[in-house]
Amino acid sequence: MTISSAYIHIPFCQQICHYCDFTKFFYNERLADEYLEALENEIHTYIPGEKEKLKTIFVGGGTPTAVNHSQLERLLKMIDDHFDIAATEEYTFEANPGDLDVEKVRLLKEYGVNRISLGVQVFDDEMLEKIGRVHRVKDVYTNVDRLIQAGLTNISIDLMYALPGQTVDHFEKTIDEALTFDLPHYSSYSLQIEPKTIFYQRYKKGTLVKPPEEDEAEMYELLQRKLAANGVQQYEISNFSKPGFESKHNLTYWNNEYYYGIGAGAHGYLPGKRTINLRPLPAYTKKATADGMPILHEEPVGLKEQMEEEMFLGLRKAEGVSLEKFFEKYHKEASDVFGEAIPSLKQRNLLVENNGQIYLTDRGRLLGNEVFQKFLLDD
Ligand code: SF4
Repeated sequence: MTISSAYIHIPFCQQICHYCDFTKFFYNERLADEYLEALENEIHTYIPGEKEKLKTIFVGGGTPTAVNHSQLERLLKMIDDHFDIAATEEYTFEANPGDLDVEKVRLLKEYGVNRISLGVQVFDDEMLEKIGRVHRVKDVYTNVDRLIQAGLTNISIDLMYALPGQTVDHFEKTIDEALTFDLPHYSSYSLQIEPKTIFYQRYKKGTLVKPPEEDEAEMYELLQRKLAANGVQQYEISNFSKPGFESKHNLTYWNNEYYYGIGAGAHGYLPGKRTINLRPLPAYTKKATADGMPILHEEPVGLKEQMEEEMFLGLRKAEGVSLEKFFEKYHKEASDVFGEAIPSLKQRNLLVENNGQIYLTDRGRLLGNEVFQKFLLDD
């Protein structure tokens, strides 16, 4: 198996959202200049010679479009210098509504970006303010229009649910408004209260209350139902698309394929190992500038871990895991490797086997962690 993808992390944001625990820092022009220098060194370490042909490239963050025009062009150029963009099937940039002015859209298009993932979250200005987002609903309209006019029509938007004070009706309005854009791809995640976030402090003090679990489950079901009714099919726990618009990059992760993880805090999966980069900005910048190898930790991945991960990741997809592909990849039958796990999960109506695929039932999706545990192998 060859390396098929690259994830490139740009850790700058114009404002820090109250729930966010990603690797991100307030945008600062000088720090971003230094970061780009370091990033180029790291990319160059992986690809010192001829341009590499990859199936997908995903530039995420942070907010990759939070940098200024010349920095954005520098970033696009360094990617173009190291990867064969013409051969890249899917080249995604994450963006925040409001960041994408005409010039930035032009640059993205000119350098071959062909997919945009927009962090919309919710169609309600008051709620956006409450969760610490900097953009407003009108920015979504302006940015989507601008992208479509430039020919960048492969757009995905992210929506959040189970936000403090949110009701099922409120989320339904967000889904309905999101669907009016008739986009090829939607992702949706429930709010998780993560340590070291503003929301976590409030949660500890008791000043932040999430909607009850039953409401959260109802929001998820509503999302699945409404999107399906509009021809947008669920293909992963949190991802939905029109046919043919599934995120090829994210499928790399769920298919347990190799990818570079480049940039501060980025995770990669290379033959035989997982890599985790230094996360603090000064540490990353210093090390990557010095030697182009800002790796904090490398974790060997043996056959046992690979086979476990094949199931944990693959079962996130609606189509699940192909037993034939499992055999081709590991030269072992999944039924021999995992013993009683598959029949017992089938018997409990958590897993289905059909046409050589095993996949989660609705109940299995709800009890995902319980299912995944069954695929842990003894040493
Ligand atoms: S824009 Fe995205 S990365 Fe930046 S703080 Fe908000 S959620 Fe985090």
